[in-house]
Amino acid sequence: MTQSSASIAVVGAGPSGFYAVDALSRARPDARIDIIDRLPTPFGLVRHGVAPDHQGTKGVTRQFDRLLAKPGVRFVGGVELGRDVSLDELRAAYDAVLIATGCGRDRRLGISGEDLDGVMGSMRFVDWFNAHPDAVDLTETIAQARHVAVIGNGNVAIDVARVFAKTAEEMAKSDIDPRAQAAIAAMPLETVTLYGRRGPAEASFTINELNEMGRLARAVALVDPADVANAAAPDGDPTPERVRKQKNIETLRGFSANAPGAKPIALAFRFHHAPLTFSGENGRIIGINFADGFYAPADLAITCIGYDAIVPEGLPAERGRIANDEGRVRGLPDVYVVGWARRGPSGTIPTSRADSFAVAERLVADLAPSSKPGPGGLDALLATRGVATIDTAGWLRIDKAESETGAREGRPRVKLASWAALRAVSNPA
Ligand code: NAP
Repeated sequence: MTQSSASIAVVGAGPSGFYAVDALSRARPDARIDIIDRLPTPFGLVRHGVAPDHQGTKGVTRQFDRLLAKPGVRFVGGVELGRDVSLDELRAAYDAVLIATGCGRDRRLGISGEDLDGVMGSMRFVDWFNAHPDAVDLTETIAQARHVAVIGNGNVAIDVARVFAKTAEEMAKSDIDPRAQAAIAAMPLETVTLYGRRGPAEASFTINELNEMGRLARAVALVDPADVANAAAPDGDPTPERVRKQKNIETLRGFSANAPGAKPIALAFRFHHAPLTFSGENGRIIGINFADGFYAPADLAITCIGYDAIVPEGLPAERGRIANDEGRVRGLPDVYVVGWARRGPSGTIPTSRADSFAVAERLVADLAPSSKPGPGGLDALLATRGVATIDTAGWLRIDKAESETGAREGRPRVKLASWAALRAVSNPA
């Protein structure tokens, strides 16, 4: 075979996977590239992680859709690595395999009471309001909650707190699952409190995300003045970090001047509170005990403390991610890894772009003349197993149906939220 028939499997159709496809397809326009995902839909965290009211961030999918239209690039949805196909089988079919499966599991605090009803990791909550087909319906779980605790001081904590705090009108132009929106709107919500185990200078909020908390219709952002009185970004930080922290502290200082009661919901930032145990009654959370002796009543707690990768069988694991050297998976010369599965759950979508480009460049440099069957090899294998895949055309049918429902309701889209609906629409025959 000639080099022109190189074949590459990218596993995981989230932003890291697509950025890798972008770089690979530009460096090797001749290559046959399959982007495989266990879901019937592409875009991973852009579809199921990015907050539904941040539509600007989701605009990146237009670029990814254009990649799917390139000759030689296929979307192969409904195929799970480890269930429908093994890593060794992919390695036998393709010249290179690039893993972009992200982080699929909430980190746990590891404290007593974490399994009480009403305590959950952010992925569970975010999957639900973002209409992930595997999401568990949380309508009953949140229905009576007056006091919501959000553990963590990163942007996921901000997203979670904001989705609770916003009114239905503020979410009207979003693609939140309408049932989740209705359930949130019906809550007797009084307080949403973000708990950081360290101080304002250590919070990892980005500036715009924190500022947005000061502009919500029904929630007033509050901070204890004592927490910000002497807060300052450390001198030793590199300039952009120092600027971010300093601006955050200024914003939080502004919040400390707000009057409690100014709006119906108190959206409080509390610092230096590390959770010690969740207290429960009849199996349900009633409050949180913190390491400093502070106790806060809470009837819902969402932990937003980061994620770990679910490492597919056959790949080496290391500290919650796939063991690799600059994207080359350790011990597997034709296997690569990008994104959060490679470097852990940090960084925004543009961070993943640079990472994927760099690893794709290494992959292309390593590519030997092709000796593998490529996409046809995968198709033959899946056919023998009766695996029904969703291709690009199937995804475009889903996209059209969701966009049309959205247009009728004045929203960008209304997502199909079940496997059955996604499968039926993707394959109308
Ligand atoms: P993150 O920024 O790393 O925040 C995690 C938070 O959890 C930190 O405040 C951390 O505190 C805290 N934490 C960890 N272990 C804890 C424990 N045992 N007890 C109490 N607190 C604990 O991560 P993230 O919020 O999950 O976000 C992931 C990435 O996605 C970030 O890079 C984020 O910027 C990005 N993202 C961006 C957007 C956006 O751009 N709008 C939205 C969502 C997510 P310590 O600092 O003390 O460890």
